Amino acid sequence: MEQTTTAAAVRDAQEAHVTFEHVIGGASVASADGAVFETADPHTGAVYGTVARGGEEDVARAVAAARSAFDDGPWPRLSTRERRLLLNRLADRIEQEGDALAAAESRDMGKPISESRGHDVPRAAYNFRFFADFQDHAASESFPMSGFHSYARHEPVGVAGAISPWNFPLMLASWKVAPALAFGNTVVLKPAEQSPATATMLGRIAAEVLPEGVLNVVHGFGPGEAGEALVRHPDVQLLTFTGETTTGQAIMQTAAPTLKRLSLELGGKSPNLVFADADLDAAVAGTIRGIFSNQGEVCLAGSRLLVERAVYDEFLARLVAAAERLPIGPPLEETTKVGPLVSHEHRERVEGYVAIAAEDGGRVLTGGSRPDDPALAAGAYLRPTVIADLPRGSRCVREEIFGPVLVVAPFDDEAEAIRVANDTPYGLAAMLWTQDLRRAHRVGAALDVGTVWVNCFFVRDLRAPFGGAKGSGMGREGGYYSREFFTEAKTITMAL
Ligand code: NDP
Repeated sequence: MEQTTTAAAVRDAQEAHVTFEHVIGGASVASADGAVFETADPHTGAVYGTVARGGEEDVARAVAAARSAFDDGPWPRLSTRERRLLLNRLADRIEQEGDALAAAESRDMGKPISESRGHDVPRAAYNFRFFADFQDHAASESFPMSGFHSYARHEPVGVAGAISPWNFPLMLASWKVAPALAFGNTVVLKPAEQSPATATMLGRIAAEVLPEGVLNVVHGFGPGEAGEALVRHPDVQLLTFTGETTTGQAIMQTAAPTLKRLSLELGGKSPNLVFADADLDAAVAGTIRGIFSNQGEVCLAGSRLLVERAVYDEFLARLVAAAERLPIGPPLEETTKVGPLVSHEHRERVEGYVAIAAEDGGRVLTGGSRPDDPALAAGAYLRPTVIADLPRGSRCVREEIFGPVLVVAPFDDEAEAIRVANDTPYGLAAMLWTQDLRRAHRVGAALDVGTVWVNCFFVRDLRAPFGGAKGSGMGREGGYYSREFFTEAKTITMAL
């Protein structure tokens, strides 16, 4: 198929009213009861799409399609090489449709097009390539014994449920779907209700390339509807979820009667530590990227900045100047670095935190309000915001805001920095900036988080474990960690 140009893809994305249907058993279908909901463009606030609103019956149809593809279809029985070829073909198709996917993503949830095209779409394709190749190369353990030989097999489990959030819709859906499929499972994906676009496109691409029913997509809401029905379904053996911590708790409870295996990637309030000896230019750039990319709607966002007192004032002055230089604009414009938040409702929630900060005595160093540009007045925009002088117990310091809001505080020494950094119910990630190698290792080891970035941010090797400590999740994915989750390990022992 001929590749669409970016300009054409952007134009199409701006003009069309779109219908998003479920993809079940390889076909695009409406909900059994015909229910739909509307989805809005966060730049204009206007409805641009109609989405099938899945319920229990639609989830049951999708799970039945996935079950039959697993029990009777070729997928789990293909050789690792055959699965590798097919999943790489899927990745090729994602790349061919890259412009259309990127434009659809940006329109759907507000992400700047430079990010969706430059990062999310390539990473989605790479998620498939990585796990396609990994499962073909991965070795299994063998345990030589005296008089016996024992070895492990890693077998597909069955039907995997995947529930994904709206902040990196395609990238995070593929982060779940790719390993689930690569290790021989079939999948039912329930994307977030705010971001149905690229999940639908992924489902259709998969329907072209993969056997029928191997990947199914059911749209709809979480609580009491499609999401919950998927978690409850007895034929879904694994469930990989990314979203809020409270949703993860609800999912664990719903999943308990069916003893589903769960992988939960949850919220965060990640500390970003800047020591006085750091390369401050790099630290300013990394801090800006760490909190304002994707409008701060990033689980890993470095949303609590802690700066050593000797450089505190200088660092904040540079940070504020850099935040004020970020171009805010429509997501489909190439120059935009900060787009609208995912919805007007979410912006209100984030603005609620700015109001709490004011009540708690916080000093807004920049932002805290909507942009003045009349061209952005209808959209869910909020200026990049930096707030100082908040008490440690303020809800703005403790809770995940999930928007372009950074809270900052000084620290006096390494011990205090570690203590404050760990003083949170979350434990997803941390960043630290220093030129002192010993300190970097020491502090990195002392932080209660799943990922530490030293003098960098967002760098991922897909072989490495990824997941959260404390309230940020349960389990790890990536490389062999994904194989552990997505396969049933079986030991076979033979007498020799
Ligand atoms: P939510 O928890 O609100 O929703 C995530 C998904 O779960 C959506 O598909 C949602 O459906 C569904 N859902 C909601 N309630 C239930 C339920 N009771 N049963 C089954 N499914 C349900 O998260 P957001 O979409 O708002 O995403 C933002 C959150 O995701 C933040 O907390 C962020 O930190 C976290 N996140 C974590 C990451 C990590 O790797 N640790 C990465 C990215 C984000 P619907 O929306 O349709 O109701």
